[in-house]
Amino acid sequence: MSAVSRATQLASLGRPESGWANTPIVKGSTYLFDTLGQWRAARAQRETDRVLSYGARGNETVYALEDAITAIEGGYRSKLFPTGLAAIATTLFACLKSGDHLLISDGVYEPMRLLCETQLAKFGVTYSDFSPTDPHWERQLRPTTKMVYVESPGSLLYDMLDLPALSHVCKQRNILLCADNTWGSGINYQPLNLGCDISVVAATKYLGGHSDVMMGSVTASKACFAQIEQASINLGQTVSAEDAFLVLRGLRTLELRLQRHASSALHLAQWLSTHQTIRNVFHPALQGDANHALWQRDATGSNGLLTIEFDPALATEKIEQAIDGLQLFGIGSSWGGYESLVLPVDPQRTRLRDSKHGYLLRLHIGLEDPADLMRDLDSMLNHIT
Ligand SMILES: *Cc1c(COP(=O)(O)O)cnc(C)c1O
Repeated sequence: MSAVSRATQLASLGRPESGWANTPIVKGSTYLFDTLGQWRAARAQRETDRVLSYGARGNETVYALEDAITAIEGGYRSKLFPTGLAAIATTLFACLKSGDHLLISDGVYEPMRLLCETQLAKFGVTYSDFSPTDPHWERQLRPTTKMVYVESPGSLLYDMLDLPALSHVCKQRNILLCADNTWGSGINYQPLNLGCDISVVAATKYLGGHSDVMMGSVTASKACFAQIEQASINLGQTVSAEDAFLVLRGLRTLELRLQRHASSALHLAQWLSTHQTIRNVFHPALQGDANHALWQRDATGSNGLLTIEFDPALATEKIEQAIDGLQLFGIGSSWGGYESLVLPVDPQRTRLRDSKHGYLLRLHIGLEDPADLMRDLDSMLNHIT
Protein backbone atom coordinates (compact mmCIF):
# COMPACT_ATOMS: atom_id res chain seq x y z
CA MET A 1 0.00 0.00 0.00
CA SER A 2 1.32 3.43 -0.88
CA ALA A 3 2.01 6.05 1.76
CA VAL A 4 -0.44 8.62 0.40
CA SER A 5 -4.00 8.66 1.66
CA ARG A 6 -6.81 6.90 -0.12
CA ALA A 7 -8.32 10.09 -1.56
CA THR A 8 -4.97 11.11 -3.02
CA GLN A 9 -4.46 7.64 -4.45
CA LEU A 10 -7.89 7.68 -6.11
CA ALA A 11 -7.01 10.94 -7.86
CA SER A 12 -4.02 9.40 -9.61
CA LEU A 13 -4.68 5.68 -10.13
CA GLY A 14 -4.73 4.42 -13.70
CA ARG A 15 -3.70 7.75 -15.21
CA PRO A 16 -1.10 8.13 -17.98
CA GLU A 17 2.33 9.26 -16.85
CA SER A 18 2.24 12.26 -19.18
CA GLY A 19 -0.05 13.92 -21.69
CA TRP A 20 -3.79 13.48 -21.23
CA ALA A 21 -5.02 13.65 -17.66
CA ASN A 22 -7.20 10.61 -18.39
CA THR A 23 -6.35 7.37 -20.13
CA PRO A 24 -8.06 7.58 -23.53
CA ILE A 25 -10.73 5.15 -24.66
CA VAL A 26 -8.98 2.62 -26.87
CA LYS A 27 -11.22 0.70 -29.23
CA GLY A 28 -9.89 -2.31 -31.03
CA SER A 29 -10.01 -5.99 -31.81
CA THR A 30 -6.89 -6.41 -33.99
CA TYR A 31 -3.49 -5.42 -32.66
CA LEU A 32 -0.83 -5.22 -35.36
CA PHE A 33 2.76 -6.49 -35.22
CA ASP A 34 5.60 -5.56 -37.57
CA THR A 35 7.01 -9.05 -37.88
CA LEU A 36 5.99 -12.64 -37.24
CA GLY A 37 8.77 -12.79 -34.69
CA GLN A 38 7.16 -10.02 -32.65
CA TRP A 39 3.74 -11.65 -32.98
CA ARG A 40 5.15 -15.00 -31.76
CA ALA A 41 7.01 -13.32 -28.89
CA ALA A 42 3.84 -11.52 -27.74
CA ARG A 43 1.86 -14.77 -27.81
CA ALA A 44 4.48 -16.50 -25.71
CA GLN A 45 4.78 -13.62 -23.29
CA ARG A 46 1.03 -13.24 -22.76
CA GLU A 47 0.92 -16.62 -21.05
CA THR A 48 2.53 -15.01 -18.02
CA ASP A 49 2.46 -11.23 -18.55
CA ARG A 50 -0.06 -8.69 -19.66
CA VAL A 51 0.80 -7.73 -23.23
CA LEU A 52 -1.28 -6.13 -25.95
CA SER A 53 -2.17 -8.85 -28.45
CA TYR A 54 -5.91 -9.03 -29.07
CA GLY A 55 -8.89 -6.86 -28.12
CA ALA A 56 -10.61 -9.50 -25.99
CA ARG A 57 -7.59 -9.65 -23.68
CA GLY A 58 -7.68 -5.95 -22.91
CA ASN A 59 -6.23 -2.66 -24.01
CA GLU A 60 -4.74 0.43 -22.36
CA THR A 61 -8.07 1.66 -20.96
CA VAL A 62 -8.93 -1.73 -19.52
CA TYR A 63 -5.43 -2.20 -18.09
CA ALA A 64 -5.63 1.21 -16.42
CA LEU A 65 -8.79 0.20 -14.58
CA GLU A 66 -7.38 -3.23 -13.71
CA ASP A 67 -4.35 -1.57 -12.15
CA ALA A 68 -6.44 0.95 -10.25
CA ILE A 69 -8.62 -1.78 -8.77
CA THR A 70 -5.59 -3.87 -7.84
CA ALA A 71 -4.15 -0.85 -6.04
CA ILE A 72 -7.26 -0.35 -3.91
CA GLU A 73 -8.04 -4.04 -3.32
CA GLY A 74 -4.47 -4.93 -2.46
CA GLY A 75 -3.97 -8.16 -4.45
CA TYR A 76 -1.61 -9.35 -7.16
CA ARG A 77 -3.67 -8.50 -10.25
CA SER A 78 -7.28 -7.90 -11.29
CA LYS A 79 -9.43 -9.05 -14.17
CA LEU A 80 -12.54 -7.25 -15.38
CA PHE A 81 -15.87 -8.78 -16.38
CA PRO A 82 -18.99 -7.47 -18.10
CA THR A 83 -21.03 -7.85 -14.87
CA GLY A 84 -20.40 -8.62 -11.23
CA LEU A 85 -22.14 -11.94 -11.73
CA ALA A 86 -19.83 -12.83 -14.65
CA ALA A 87 -16.90 -12.15 -12.31
CA ILE A 88 -18.34 -14.51 -9.70
CA ALA A 89 -19.27 -17.20 -12.24
CA THR A 90 -15.87 -17.19 -13.91
CA THR A 91 -14.11 -17.41 -10.55
CA LEU A 92 -16.17 -20.45 -9.60
CA PHE A 93 -15.61 -22.17 -12.95
CA ALA A 94 -11.91 -21.39 -12.69
CA CYS A 95 -11.38 -22.78 -9.19
CA LEU A 96 -13.81 -25.70 -8.91
CA LYS A 97 -14.05 -29.06 -10.61
CA SER A 98 -16.31 -32.08 -10.54
CA GLY A 99 -16.44 -33.65 -7.07
CA ASP A 100 -15.60 -30.42 -5.24
CA HIS A 101 -17.78 -28.95 -2.52
CA LEU A 102 -18.36 -25.21 -2.16
CA LEU A 103 -19.43 -23.74 1.19
CA ILE A 104 -21.23 -20.41 0.94
CA SER A 105 -22.37 -17.96 3.59
CA ASP A 106 -26.05 -17.45 4.08
CA GLY A 107 -27.47 -14.33 2.45
CA VAL A 108 -25.14 -14.21 -0.58
CA TYR A 109 -26.28 -12.44 -3.70
CA GLU A 110 -29.18 -14.61 -4.87
CA PRO A 111 -28.11 -15.12 -8.53
CA MET A 112 -24.85 -16.57 -7.19
CA ARG A 113 -26.83 -19.25 -5.39
CA LEU A 114 -28.84 -19.94 -8.54
CA LEU A 115 -25.60 -20.35 -10.45
CA CYS A 116 -24.53 -23.02 -7.95
CA GLU A 117 -27.91 -24.73 -8.08
CA THR A 118 -28.27 -24.79 -11.84
CA GLN A 119 -24.94 -24.56 -13.68
CA LEU A 120 -22.36 -25.83 -11.19
CA ALA A 121 -24.53 -28.76 -10.14
CA LYS A 122 -24.47 -29.97 -13.77
CA PHE A 123 -20.70 -30.16 -13.57
CA GLY A 124 -20.73 -32.18 -10.35
CA VAL A 125 -19.92 -29.36 -7.93
CA THR A 126 -22.02 -29.46 -4.76
CA TYR A 127 -22.68 -26.58 -2.40
CA SER A 128 -24.10 -25.95 1.04
CA ASP A 129 -24.66 -22.96 3.30
CA PHE A 130 -23.41 -21.79 6.62
CA SER A 131 -24.74 -19.02 8.81
CA PRO A 132 -22.42 -16.07 9.43
CA THR A 133 -23.53 -16.19 13.07
CA ASP A 134 -22.76 -19.90 13.59
CA PRO A 135 -19.74 -20.22 15.91
CA HIS A 136 -19.33 -23.86 14.81
CA TRP A 137 -19.34 -23.10 11.08
CA GLU A 138 -16.24 -25.26 10.66
CA ARG A 139 -18.41 -28.36 11.05
CA GLN A 140 -19.92 -27.56 7.67
CA LEU A 141 -16.58 -28.15 5.96
CA ARG A 142 -16.23 -31.45 4.16
CA PRO A 143 -13.15 -33.36 3.04
CA THR A 144 -14.07 -32.28 -0.51
CA THR A 145 -14.55 -28.58 0.32
CA LYS A 146 -12.42 -26.63 -2.12
CA MET A 147 -13.68 -23.11 -1.55
CA VAL A 148 -15.47 -21.06 1.09
CA TYR A 149 -17.36 -18.19 -0.52
CA VAL A 150 -18.65 -15.36 1.62
CA GLU A 151 -20.33 -12.03 1.24
CA SER A 152 -19.13 -9.81 4.06
CA PRO A 153 -21.00 -7.73 4.92
CA GLY A 154 -23.96 -9.37 3.22
CA SER A 155 -26.12 -7.02 1.19
CA LEU A 156 -29.44 -7.70 2.98
CA LEU A 157 -28.74 -7.57 6.74
CA TYR A 158 -25.02 -6.71 6.50
CA ASP A 159 -23.84 -9.64 8.57
CA MET A 160 -20.08 -9.62 8.76
CA LEU A 161 -17.77 -12.57 8.95
CA ASP A 162 -14.56 -12.79 10.89
CA LEU A 163 -12.41 -13.11 7.77
CA PRO A 164 -9.05 -13.50 9.58
CA ALA A 165 -10.52 -16.39 11.61
CA LEU A 166 -12.07 -18.00 8.52
CA SER A 167 -8.84 -17.57 6.62
CA HIS A 168 -6.87 -19.26 9.40
CA VAL A 169 -9.05 -22.38 9.16
CA CYS A 170 -9.11 -22.38 5.35
CA LYS A 171 -5.34 -22.06 5.04
CA GLN A 172 -4.80 -25.02 7.36
CA ARG A 173 -6.99 -27.15 5.12
CA ASN A 174 -5.85 -25.78 1.79
CA ILE A 175 -9.28 -24.33 1.06
CA LEU A 176 -9.66 -21.16 -1.02
CA LEU A 177 -11.44 -18.24 0.62
CA CYS A 178 -13.30 -15.93 -1.75
CA ALA A 179 -15.22 -12.82 -0.69
CA ASP A 180 -17.80 -10.76 -2.52
CA ASN A 181 -16.55 -7.28 -1.60
CA THR A 182 -19.25 -5.26 -3.32
CA TRP A 183 -20.36 -3.67 -0.03
CA GLY A 184 -16.81 -2.58 0.75
CA SER A 185 -16.07 -1.58 -2.85
CA GLY A 186 -12.35 -1.93 -2.29
CA ILE A 187 -12.08 1.02 0.03
CA ASN A 188 -14.28 0.35 3.06
CA TYR A 189 -13.16 -3.20 3.50
CA GLN A 190 -10.24 -5.20 2.16
CA PRO A 191 -10.80 -8.97 2.12
CA LEU A 192 -7.39 -9.72 0.60
CA ASN A 193 -5.65 -7.95 3.48
CA LEU A 194 -7.90 -9.83 5.90
CA GLY A 195 -6.76 -13.23 4.58
CA CYS A 196 -8.91 -13.99 1.53
CA ASP A 197 -7.39 -15.40 -1.66
CA ILE A 198 -9.90 -13.79 -4.01
CA SER A 199 -12.06 -10.66 -3.83
CA VAL A 200 -14.92 -10.03 -6.24
CA VAL A 201 -16.57 -6.63 -6.63
CA ALA A 202 -19.65 -5.65 -8.62
CA ALA A 203 -18.21 -2.38 -9.97
CA THR A 204 -21.75 -1.76 -11.22
CA LYS A 205 -22.41 -0.47 -7.69
CA TYR A 206 -20.21 2.14 -6.00
CA LEU A 207 -17.17 2.02 -8.28
CA GLY A 208 -19.23 3.06 -11.29
CA GLY A 209 -21.45 5.00 -8.94
CA HIS A 210 -23.80 6.59 -11.47
CA SER A 211 -26.19 3.75 -12.41
CA ASP A 212 -24.95 3.88 -15.99
CA VAL A 213 -22.53 0.99 -16.33
CA MET A 214 -22.27 -2.75 -15.61
CA MET A 215 -18.94 -4.26 -14.60
CA GLY A 216 -17.35 -6.81 -12.31
CA SER A 217 -13.82 -7.27 -11.07
CA VAL A 218 -11.86 -10.12 -9.57
CA THR A 219 -8.67 -9.40 -7.67
CA ALA A 220 -6.65 -12.38 -6.52
CA SER A 221 -3.46 -13.52 -4.90
CA LYS A 222 -0.67 -14.53 -7.26
CA ALA A 223 -1.36 -18.21 -6.59
CA CYS A 224 -4.98 -17.93 -7.78
CA PHE A 225 -4.76 -15.33 -10.50
CA ALA A 226 -3.47 -17.39 -13.42
CA GLN A 227 -6.33 -19.89 -13.36
CA ILE A 228 -8.92 -17.11 -13.14
CA GLU A 229 -7.37 -15.31 -16.08
CA GLN A 230 -7.28 -18.56 -18.06
CA ALA A 231 -10.97 -19.23 -17.34
CA SER A 232 -11.81 -15.67 -18.33
CA ILE A 233 -10.14 -16.18 -21.71
CA ASN A 234 -11.67 -19.63 -22.20
CA LEU A 235 -15.13 -18.29 -21.44
CA GLY A 236 -14.67 -15.31 -23.76
CA GLN A 237 -15.08 -12.66 -21.07
CA THR A 238 -14.16 -9.08 -21.89
CA VAL A 239 -15.27 -5.51 -21.16
CA SER A 240 -15.63 -2.50 -23.39
CA ALA A 241 -13.18 0.39 -23.14
CA GLU A 242 -16.05 2.88 -22.73
CA ASP A 243 -17.29 0.99 -19.71
CA ALA A 244 -13.78 0.79 -18.24
CA PHE A 245 -13.48 4.54 -18.78
CA LEU A 246 -16.75 5.17 -16.94
CA VAL A 247 -15.66 3.09 -13.96
CA LEU A 248 -12.29 4.88 -13.86
CA ARG A 249 -14.19 8.15 -13.86
CA GLY A 250 -16.33 6.84 -11.01
CA LEU A 251 -13.22 5.96 -8.98
CA ARG A 252 -12.17 9.61 -8.87
CA THR A 253 -15.08 10.47 -6.59
CA LEU A 254 -15.47 7.10 -4.87
CA GLU A 255 -14.27 8.18 -1.46
CA LEU A 256 -16.14 11.48 -1.51
CA ARG A 257 -19.38 9.79 -2.56
CA LEU A 258 -19.04 7.00 -0.01
CA GLN A 259 -18.51 9.51 2.79
CA ARG A 260 -21.74 11.26 1.84
CA HIS A 261 -23.69 8.01 1.38
CA ALA A 262 -22.38 6.74 4.72
CA SER A 263 -23.02 9.87 6.76
CA SER A 264 -26.54 10.29 5.39
CA ALA A 265 -27.30 6.59 5.91
CA LEU A 266 -26.05 6.63 9.50
CA HIS A 267 -28.02 9.79 10.25
CA LEU A 268 -31.22 8.26 8.83
CA ALA A 269 -30.53 4.87 10.48
CA GLN A 270 -30.28 6.56 13.89
CA TRP A 271 -33.52 8.44 13.31
CA LEU A 272 -35.36 5.38 11.91
CA SER A 273 -34.30 3.22 14.85
CA THR A 274 -36.26 5.50 17.20
CA HIS A 275 -39.45 5.35 15.13
CA GLN A 276 -42.41 3.51 16.65
CA THR A 277 -43.29 1.62 13.43
CA ILE A 278 -39.80 0.17 13.13
CA ARG A 279 -38.57 -2.79 15.13
CA ASN A 280 -35.01 -2.96 13.86
CA VAL A 281 -32.55 -1.11 11.68
CA PHE A 282 -29.66 -3.07 10.15
CA HIS A 283 -26.59 -0.98 9.37
CA PRO A 284 -23.17 -2.04 10.68
CA ALA A 285 -22.02 1.52 11.45
CA LEU A 286 -25.00 1.94 13.76
CA GLN A 287 -24.18 1.60 17.44
CA GLY A 288 -26.02 -1.46 18.75
CA ASP A 289 -26.07 -3.26 15.40
CA ALA A 290 -25.16 -6.95 15.79
CA ASN A 291 -22.17 -6.43 13.47
CA HIS A 292 -20.95 -3.13 14.89
CA ALA A 293 -17.91 -4.51 16.75
CA LEU A 294 -16.64 -6.48 13.76
CA TRP A 295 -17.31 -3.52 11.50
CA GLN A 296 -15.26 -1.28 13.79
CA ARG A 297 -12.43 -3.79 13.84
CA ASP A 298 -12.23 -4.67 10.13
CA ALA A 299 -13.88 -1.93 8.06
CA THR A 300 -12.65 1.61 7.52
CA GLY A 301 -15.94 3.12 6.44
CA SER A 302 -19.53 2.43 5.59
CA ASN A 303 -21.98 3.08 2.76
CA GLY A 304 -25.54 4.04 1.95
CA LEU A 305 -27.21 0.68 2.56
CA LEU A 306 -29.54 0.04 5.46
CA THR A 307 -32.43 -2.34 6.00
CA ILE A 308 -35.44 -1.65 8.18
CA GLU A 309 -37.68 -4.22 9.79
CA PHE A 310 -41.18 -2.89 10.41
CA ASP A 311 -43.21 -3.78 13.47
CA PRO A 312 -44.53 -7.33 12.77
CA ALA A 313 -48.02 -6.17 13.79
CA LEU A 314 -48.26 -3.92 10.71
CA ALA A 315 -50.08 -5.19 7.62
CA THR A 316 -47.95 -5.72 4.51
CA GLU A 317 -50.56 -4.09 2.31
CA LYS A 318 -50.45 -0.88 4.31
CA ILE A 319 -46.67 -0.81 4.28
CA GLU A 320 -46.50 -1.37 0.53
CA GLN A 321 -49.05 1.36 -0.18
CA ALA A 322 -46.91 3.75 1.84
CA ILE A 323 -43.74 2.64 -0.03
CA ASP A 324 -45.48 3.31 -3.35
CA GLY A 325 -46.06 6.87 -2.14
CA LEU A 326 -42.35 7.66 -1.68
CA GLN A 327 -41.33 10.63 -3.81
CA LEU A 328 -37.52 10.61 -3.65
CA PHE A 329 -36.81 6.87 -3.49
CA GLY A 330 -36.98 4.85 -6.68
CA ILE A 331 -38.13 1.23 -6.63
CA GLY A 332 -35.54 -0.84 -8.45
CA SER A 333 -32.70 -3.31 -8.37
CA SER A 334 -29.10 -2.53 -7.64
CA TRP A 335 -27.58 0.19 -5.44
CA GLY A 336 -24.39 2.21 -5.28
CA GLY A 337 -25.52 4.89 -7.71
CA TYR A 338 -26.09 8.52 -6.79
CA GLU A 339 -29.81 7.98 -6.25
CA SER A 340 -31.91 6.70 -3.39
CA LEU A 341 -33.70 3.39 -3.82
CA VAL A 342 -35.89 0.99 -1.89
CA LEU A 343 -36.57 -2.69 -2.46
CA PRO A 344 -38.29 -5.30 -0.27
CA VAL A 345 -36.00 -7.99 1.17
CA ASP A 346 -37.17 -11.60 1.04
CA PRO A 347 -36.92 -12.78 4.68
CA GLN A 348 -36.38 -16.33 3.40
CA ARG A 349 -32.98 -15.17 2.18
CA THR A 350 -31.99 -13.99 5.65
CA ARG A 351 -31.32 -15.43 9.10
CA LEU A 352 -34.74 -14.05 10.20
CA ARG A 353 -36.56 -16.69 8.13
CA ASP A 354 -37.33 -18.96 11.09
CA SER A 355 -38.40 -16.25 13.53
CA LYS A 356 -41.43 -14.00 13.75
CA HIS A 357 -40.33 -11.03 11.74
CA GLY A 358 -41.73 -7.86 10.31
CA TYR A 359 -41.67 -6.58 6.73
CA LEU A 360 -38.10 -5.96 5.58
CA LEU A 361 -37.21 -3.03 3.33
CA ARG A 362 -33.73 -2.26 2.04
CA LEU A 363 -32.91 1.40 1.52
CA HIS A 364 -30.05 2.74 -0.51
CA ILE A 365 -29.40 6.28 0.68
CA GLY A 366 -28.23 8.34 -2.27
CA LEU A 367 -26.49 11.69 -2.55
CA GLU A 368 -29.63 13.81 -2.12
CA ASP A 369 -29.94 16.12 0.87
CA PRO A 370 -30.60 13.80 3.85
CA ALA A 371 -33.13 16.29 5.27
CA ASP A 372 -35.27 15.85 2.15
CA LEU A 373 -34.94 12.07 2.34
CA MET A 374 -35.96 12.16 5.99
CA ARG A 375 -39.10 14.14 5.17
CA ASP A 376 -40.00 11.64 2.44
CA LEU A 377 -39.48 8.66 4.77
CA ASP A 378 -41.35 10.42 7.57
CA SER A 379 -44.32 10.91 5.30
CA MET A 380 -44.19 7.20 4.34
CA LEU A 381 -44.11 6.14 8.00
CA ASN A 382 -46.98 8.50 8.87
CA HIS A 383 -49.09 6.82 6.21
CA ILE A 384 -48.62 3.47 7.92
CA THR A 385 -49.67 4.48 11.40
C1 LIG B 1 -25.12 -6.41 -7.68
C2 LIG B 1 -24.32 -7.43 -6.98
C3 LIG B 1 -23.64 -8.42 -7.68
C4 LIG B 1 -23.74 -8.59 -9.17
O1 LIG B 1 -23.37 -7.49 -9.92
P1 LIG B 1 -23.96 -7.29 -11.40
O2 LIG B 1 -23.02 -6.32 -11.99
O3 LIG B 1 -25.35 -6.77 -11.23
O4 LIG B 1 -23.92 -8.62 -12.07
C5 LIG B 1 -22.87 -9.30 -6.96
N1 LIG B 1 -22.78 -9.23 -5.63
C6 LIG B 1 -23.43 -8.28 -4.92
C7 LIG B 1 -23.29 -8.25 -3.45
C8 LIG B 1 -24.22 -7.36 -5.57
O5 LIG B 1 -24.88 -6.45 -4.85
